[in-house]
Amino acid sequence: MSIDRNQMWCALGADVDVLVIGGGITGVGVARDAAMRGLKVALVEQEDLAYGTSSRSSKLIHGGLRYLEHYEFGLVFESVSERQVLQRLAPHLVRPLGFLFPIYKHSRQKLWLLRAGMWLYDGLSLFRSYKSHRTLRPLKVAELEPALLQSDLVGAPLYYDCATDDARLTIETALDAAERGAVIVTRCCAQALLRNDHGQVEGARVLDRLTGATKEVRARVVVNATGPWTDAVLALDKEKHRPLLRPTKGVHIVFDYDRLPIQHAVVCFHPEDERVLFAIPWGDRTYVGTTDTDFQGEPGSEHATAEDVQYLLDASNAYFPELDFRAEDVLSTWAGLRPLIAPPPKDGSVDESSVSREHEVLVGTDGLISIVGGKLTTYRLMSAETVDAAIKQMGAHAELPQRGSSSTGKESLPGAKDWPEEGGLAVVAERIAAAGAPHVALDTAELFASTYGTRGISVAKRCLEHPELAARLVPGRPEILAQVDEAVQHEFATGVSDILIRRTQLFFRDRNQGLGAAPGVAARLQAILGWDEARCQSEIEAFQAEVALSRRFRSEPKAARAEQPTARADQRAARVAE
Ligand code: FAD
Repeated sequence: MSIDRNQMWCALGADVDVLVIGGGITGVGVARDAAMRGLKVALVEQEDLAYGTSSRSSKLIHGGLRYLEHYEFGLVFESVSERQVLQRLAPHLVRPLGFLFPIYKHSRQKLWLLRAGMWLYDGLSLFRSYKSHRTLRPLKVAELEPALLQSDLVGAPLYYDCATDDARLTIETALDAAERGAVIVTRCCAQALLRNDHGQVEGARVLDRLTGATKEVRARVVVNATGPWTDAVLALDKEKHRPLLRPTKGVHIVFDYDRLPIQHAVVCFHPEDERVLFAIPWGDRTYVGTTDTDFQGEPGSEHATAEDVQYLLDASNAYFPELDFRAEDVLSTWAGLRPLIAPPPKDGSVDESSVSREHEVLVGTDGLISIVGGKLTTYRLMSAETVDAAIKQMGAHAELPQRGSSSTGKESLPGAKDWPEEGGLAVVAERIAAAGAPHVALDTAELFASTYGTRGISVAKRCLEHPELAARLVPGRPEILAQVDEAVQHEFATGVSDILIRRTQLFFRDRNQGLGAAPGVAARLQAILGWDEARCQSEIEAFQAEVALSRRFRSEPKAARAEQPTARADQRAARVAE
């Protein structure tokens, strides 16, 4: 389906059942769920899809082993069940990954206890994990992961969760929502809430940030799905507003794979404060994360500080002592905000429509529904609860035909259509290579399979008619120019950063973070969208600014940590949303 932003903007004028503010995984999940139930839906996103936390996570679809420590079996069951569902809905994006959990003589965790936990973890998935766990002896660990600290190693359980591409999961969910009739407009900001004479929210005034135009969108229900911006939206037309969130910042750093060569994700405890961290293999790269510090600034301004990077380097050096990591080894960084829920207000301004959990659907006395907290992994369940609440809300004011319950778990995302019975990604890559032959090389076909799934076939076919689209964006890397056309014509991208950060990941994976590719991408967008020179230049500069922010740690002094680690005693914050 081709996405015409102008048409979408025009369609935004019509009254809808549900207006969603925010195009992260939660917002697009709500839009898809509501559209599948036959509701008229519009979604506005102030920047790009997945601009916020949904492109800045640890990129795992996981049960949350650590919840077992707090006996939160329900949460784990929910998450491992979702892991199963998402593997079925998007096998190209949600892929099994082995996690090694080394236990040493001095570890806080005892091996016998962890093994018991592993049985429980497998049991809660009804033994339908990709593979059941097994515990490796030190010799086997040394054979599989020679770089890992071996002295005093007692053993290491190996278990399976899934890795994903968070931004892609968001984009594909949005694509499916749009195919089902949702109107989605990016670079479109909700500026004010519209209210009726009784103060009930009945829409929003939105600003097209590309043209400066505004319009009023009337809706029977408005959903605030703005993650770390939740409080900013709640405060849009209120002088006083008690914060719902207590956001914390999480940072990841990226190494060349050859610098940190691991076959499995490694789970470790930070030597300083015993926080759980992951080192995750990521194709030609490996990333390590995450930190967890209170954050009070503007969402979007968060970045990795020198202290954050040092904290992660310290853990890396403790677990891989021979490798001697330094700040110069860090290729790229990213920082995101966990939209953690602050203790609820006691002033009666909101009715909690769900029990206090890691996510909450809050219905304000003015009818505004806010969905806060949560995880990438459970986004479908959160979305379903939110749409249930929206339908209940509509029913309170008007007759509504029965809309049934959520069916988002039954139908695949677009890239999983015609998925092969056997052979998975390898078979899809072969199909893509065949479709794009002789222009699309195998490394590009493999990248396409794990990026677009079966949609990669049509992206590859672009090169048949226009072989110049097979040009590589960065010499030696698999990303090609055809992806720019695809992003702007079919995937809601409107600018250089959208493409280099969230559609291709060159920002994270390329040794030069995609800086060299930016002029070529801008030139292609100029040809497609008719940009003038000034727009090209400002797009390139905006991307350069994003890269500079992610590299700011390089020029910062290594002072004491400015942002305080989240209080360990705070139970809710300790249940980090990852
Ligand atoms: P966001 O993705 O932040 O989306 C909100 C959107 O609203 C933004 O795009 C923003 O631009 C938009 N917006 C804001 N204001 C307006 C406005 N006025 N008008 C229009 N649009 C607006 N979960 C997992 O399951 N697995 C993990 O491995 C994992 N790791 C994590 C690691 C870290 C460091 C962090 C921070 C989180 C992690 N999480 C993980 C949690 C998960 O990433 C988040 O819960 C999820 O991405 C939140 O999505 P969201 O849609 O609620 O918010």
